[in-house]
Amino acid sequence: MVPGVVDESTQLSKLLGARSAGPLAKARELHTVGDLLEFWPRRYLEHTADLSNLHVGMYVVVVAEVKTAQTRKTKNGKEMLQATVTDGRNEVDLAFFRSYGHRDVLVPGVTALFAGEVGMYRQRWQLAHPAYQVLEGGLGPLGPDRGPIPVYLQVKGMQNWAVAECVRIVLDHLDGDAVPEPLPAALRSRHGLPSRLEALKGIHVPKDFGQVQRARHRLRYEEAFVFQALLAQRRARQASERTRARRPREGGLLAAFDARLPFELTAGQRAVGETLAEELSRDVPMHRLLQGEVGSGKTVIALRAMLAAVDAGGQAALLAPTEVLAAQHHRSITTMLGDLAEGGMLGGSDIGTRVALLTGSQSTADRRKNLLDAASGDAGIVIGTHALIQDQVQFQDLALVVVDEQHRFGVEQRDALRGKGAEPPHVLVMTATPIPRTVTMTVFGDMETSTLTELPRGRSPITTHVVPADRPAWVQRTWERIAEEVRSGRQAYVVCPRIGDDGPAATSGSPDDEELAAPEPGEGEEAAPREMASVYAVEALLRENPALEGLTIAVLHGRMAPEDKDAVMAAFTRAEVDVLVSTTVIEVGVDVPNATVMVVMDADRFGVSQLHQLRGRVGRGRHQGLCLLMTGTEAETARERLDAVAATTDGFELARLDLELRGTGDVLSARQSGGGRSSRGMGRGSFRFLSLVRDEEVILQARDDATALVAADPELTDHPDLQAAVREWVDEEQAAFLERG
Ligand code: ADP
Ligand code: MG
Repeated sequence: MVPGVVDESTQLSKLLGARSAGPLAKARELHTVGDLLEFWPRRYLEHTADLSNLHVGMYVVVVAEVKTAQTRKTKNGKEMLQATVTDGRNEVDLAFFRSYGHRDVLVPGVTALFAGEVGMYRQRWQLAHPAYQVLEGGLGPLGPDRGPIPVYLQVKGMQNWAVAECVRIVLDHLDGDAVPEPLPAALRSRHGLPSRLEALKGIHVPKDFGQVQRARHRLRYEEAFVFQALLAQRRARQASERTRARRPREGGLLAAFDARLPFELTAGQRAVGETLAEELSRDVPMHRLLQGEVGSGKTVIALRAMLAAVDAGGQAALLAPTEVLAAQHHRSITTMLGDLAEGGMLGGSDIGTRVALLTGSQSTADRRKNLLDAASGDAGIVIGTHALIQDQVQFQDLALVVVDEQHRFGVEQRDALRGKGAEPPHVLVMTATPIPRTVTMTVFGDMETSTLTELPRGRSPITTHVVPADRPAWVQRTWERIAEEVRSGRQAYVVCPRIGDDGPAATSGSPDDEELAAPEPGEGEEAAPREMASVYAVEALLRENPALEGLTIAVLHGRMAPEDKDAVMAAFTRAEVDVLVSTTVIEVGVDVPNATVMVVMDADRFGVSQLHQLRGRVGRGRHQGLCLLMTGTEAETARERLDAVAATTDGFELARLDLELRGTGDVLSARQSGGGRSSRGMGRGSFRFLSLVRDEEVILQARDDATALVAADPELTDHPDLQAAVREWVDEEQAAFLERG
């Protein structure tokens, strides 16, 4: 029996019975009415209105009744079935060259939906081997005047028509009043949007294609609007927060640092610097995203903001995604600051401070000392990995949090760190990858954005080539190029997708392990069975190669002990290592300007943005950078991807391409990995219907509308359905976070 009120949370098993509910749950994880209604048809078959207007080659989909049917033997002794069907006015013949399976089904009087290509045989229209679905109960719901026929993704154990029938049952029982309407009526009428219930019907039982379009648009807009309302609320709450203003100080650390800066800031760096200084000196906490092209010099901007915070009496924390990067920041910031980083020490500067480092793998003694420096305030700058977020870490007065390479962090981690200030600290988030506008408006939609597009002067652009791995001469030439670079004083990276087996056993708990799981192949692309190049195999290969004789080769990967990683990275920085064979552990942030050539093995295994990020490690100084993408792939899409990376150094363009190819691109990964509603693996950050590639206008419109609405009704008290939908988002985000741990 059907339960009293059927709404979107009603279990399908209560409405449909186990024979249908079972396969829907098992094959597609559709458990509730809402789940099934969100299971959009992949496409629609157009209903041919009738059989009066046929031509050869036309694809028809028509409901018709079997008028006659007979079998006959063909010349080679097989039994074939010939039938004639009618739509009430006109006829068409059917031919099945094997009668088996059809003979007992297509008997006169049976009505079915037939689909096939029109041919001509003996001066009569014919469908040879049409697909068909028998319609129990005659023309039933799919009469000849009905609209497009939905075609669903295959549900194992069910026919498409059975799925459609389930959806129809659900829609019939769905209580119109129980369907929420998150969109305010005024907005709906302004944009001419159907109600949610109408839209759901328009998706599943449309009268025409126009209705499908309107329904899709409405549901996409709704999704964008609910999320934008959430963001608008977050922004409004942030704007009402108060914190201590950190005003710049004359003659402080920042001034001293600027005076000894070995280069001139770019115009972009100066402009962003001014914005940050201005926002730090306000009593509303800053929430700013700094995105910039690889190598555009984000670190120095962050450092200057941190020094301003220290000048104002506060502390700054710099959160890095990997130990390698945290250690590098510590090294380079300490070096850049020189005696300014020796506060309280003999020979240190009077105005100086200290720079503490906190990582998960430090010795207890080191850790204790650094924890103390952070808590006492002696360290004005505290750099670390996730270890910074832990409870024991305390600050004397945390004024500014800088999150480097944001996409590895979730909102929640950012918030955990923010919680360490007595008053809410200012927050600056930096992304390594340039991100398309749709992403800044959604995933980072609760922050203001600054963008650095300009590279420091004197950089020569990186040249990138694709090297076919099956051409021995080209491969050898690649290694020779490395040798040449080294001979002229430069260094090289060789990046591999795997670590390999010969290495040391895993040290547990390292956050740096970057060994690449084979990425999901693009659509229609087979995961190649080829063995991927590993760090240790490539190292061995290079050591044996006469072209590289006498070169110092070292390996680096996430499974190494932290102090070994550190030692290798430091040696590479000091140019004591010529060739560094590594995993993507060097992907983000690593800054060794003397490295000029990078070879990426099995480059097809990496994403577009990731390759762009990787090659950003070379060409950071005044020497020309060279990136060689080696690949054995024959897959066309993979080749196209690599050619695209080789063809442009514009990170924004590549980010857009990445978004198109992967739906969401690398930037979303941190917010994506959780399970979303009804554990269908659609974590928040990936939308159900909205596309960040296609729906920019929808997002823009929804953003404007939501911002205006939240300004008028901050708590959404007049819009309970919207409020509930927003809360659902938040709950899912949190659930996804907890699941990730
Ligand atoms: P990213 O934006 O990729 O994080 P970094 O901050 O690591 O880039 O900077 C890349 C390199 O450029 C560093 O070696 C840095 O010292 C240098 N750099 C930064 N700003 C300038 C500038 N204005 N002029 C010259 N070199 C700069
Ligand atoms: Mg960086």
